[in-house]
Amino acid sequence: MSTEDLAPDAQSLDAVVVGMGFGGMYMLHRARVAGLRVRGYEAGDDVGGTWYWNRYPGARCDVESLEYSYSFSEELQQEWEWTERYPGQAEILSYARYVAERFDLRRDIQFETRVTAARFDEVAGRWDVRTDRGDEVSAQFLIMATGCLSSTNVPDIEGLDRFEGAVYHTGRWPKEGVDFRGQRVGVVGTGSSGIQAIPVIAEEAEELYVFQRTPQFSIPARNAPLDAAEQAAVKADYQGFRARNRQTPGAIGSRLGWNTASVLECDPEEREREFESRWNIGGFTFVGAFGDTSTNPDANKFAADFVRDKIREKVHDPKVAEMLMPKTHIGCKRICLDTNYFETFNRPNVHLVDISEAPMERATPRGLCTNGREYELDCIVFATGYDAMTGSLLRIDIRGRGDQSLGDVWSAGPVTYLGLGIPGFPNLFVIAGPGSPSVLANMIVCVEQHVDWITECVEYLRDHGYRSIEATPEAADQWVAYVNQVAGGTLYPTCNSWYLGANVPGKPRVFMPLPGFPAYVAKCDEVAAKGYEGFVLA
Ligand SMILES: Cc1cc2nc3c(=O)[nH]c(=O)nc-3n(C[C@H](O)[C@H](O)[C@H](O)COP(=O)(O)OP(=O)(O)OC[C@H]3O[C@@H](n4cnc5c(N)ncnc54)[C@H](O)[C@@H]3O)c2cc1C
Repeated sequence: MSTEDLAPDAQSLDAVVVGMGFGGMYMLHRARVAGLRVRGYEAGDDVGGTWYWNRYPGARCDVESLEYSYSFSEELQQEWEWTERYPGQAEILSYARYVAERFDLRRDIQFETRVTAARFDEVAGRWDVRTDRGDEVSAQFLIMATGCLSSTNVPDIEGLDRFEGAVYHTGRWPKEGVDFRGQRVGVVGTGSSGIQAIPVIAEEAEELYVFQRTPQFSIPARNAPLDAAEQAAVKADYQGFRARNRQTPGAIGSRLGWNTASVLECDPEEREREFESRWNIGGFTFVGAFGDTSTNPDANKFAADFVRDKIREKVHDPKVAEMLMPKTHIGCKRICLDTNYFETFNRPNVHLVDISEAPMERATPRGLCTNGREYELDCIVFATGYDAMTGSLLRIDIRGRGDQSLGDVWSAGPVTYLGLGIPGFPNLFVIAGPGSPSVLANMIVCVEQHVDWITECVEYLRDHGYRSIEATPEAADQWVAYVNQVAGGTLYPTCNSWYLGANVPGKPRVFMPLPGFPAYVAKCDEVAAKGYEGFVLA
């Protein structure tokens, strides 16, 4: 939809929502139901966010389809039929499009439009929003649904612009796909996306060079067609199923159980049985095998060693197996799920290149140079992730009270209250912002919880005659300290992960997401019940 098609009074809006992934789509819907005049802006030409951009081979959700879906509409969750245990990118994108049609979302979305700037007008008490298409609109509320993992991160490799082959990033994959047949392909990066893409590219490419900086733990996904009876059983009590999932630390996997017992107090046979059984089931449930593996280094070692032994079993060449051996605690980086990742290194056309000691030296017109050798390539695939959690917000020139820029305010790391509000930035809400569970939980559940909270907050303001809401600096500082304290009780901060911003040179090292979904929801509910404690309502 173009600017001309929008309603004539659309210059004066109640809310602007930036980003039309699952967060923005549901926000738009809820805002409209609440009677707000709202407009969504989206840089892509359709809805779906992550699943619109990440069309790389093997792209698939790591959360099961029956769980990675909206719960807000009973009709929707009953009528949509998933086909696989874990939904692939194309199926999730079809689902997002179906939701957009079903709730008639597109009429209020301006696609192919990037919001470039937003300035809070203190006199009018409104946000002035600008886009790369020259739009200038004003709205009382600015809701950022720009995504935690939507600003791609490409390493700064000298000479890359002179490389004569094609260059891709998994998060900006061409819609028409890529034909790797007969090609010498270099994949840089072995995180979640690389681990999904590498086995699929290996089947097609002539030669595949995998450039690995940090070996990762990965658990078999064990994807399979979804059993119709299983789907029907879940649908028979979908709300109960969702409610039970929301009580787990990551808002997933209640059916398989989160064991709270200590691995340290378990006898060796029972320990192996538990790990083996979860390994065979596949998926994230492996990390729920025992209660102390995410907090106690000794406990963690049992789980980590179990997976390391599995890698040794799968990879035939012991030297390659050693190169693939993760050295960190398991789970302190985002755990990966795979289909035949380690087995792929047994193929004669797949070559693992360790760049942990000698970083990528440079690109040449013919390929990539590292370890004193030039690897000749026809194309390079960057699976190097994102400027996570803050990147897409900071790429917009957001200015709050006193014309302060968000970039300056966050120069030492993000400061939010509940991950939802930022002091100095009235009436601005962030969906799945830093300081909320976001990437440490099933994100559809997280964004739904945020959208519900924001909508109820706006309704409260309206019903009580308030024009604005703003987090206090004290509440935000206490919140940041709380997030650090909770994270400090886990093994998460022990790794150089993107949770800490460690993948982006120069980014402040601050642990950004908050572990523990149920406690977080309780806190948000308590804040609301106390008349939005920690916020100033004016
Ligand atoms: C490869 C990959 C795999 C993932 N797997 C899982 C998983 O297994 N489980 C899970 O829970 N989560 C997963 N995630 C996280 C995923 O991002 C969330 O599940 C969910 O899709 C987030 O929805 P969102 O609406 O918050 O953000 P997004 O889906 O990222 O959408 C944000 C949208 O905002 C748009 N945008 C950003 N800036 C602007 C701007 N300035 N102007 C206009 N538009 C803008 C972007 O174009 C994008 O479309 C994965 C992410 C990636 C990248």
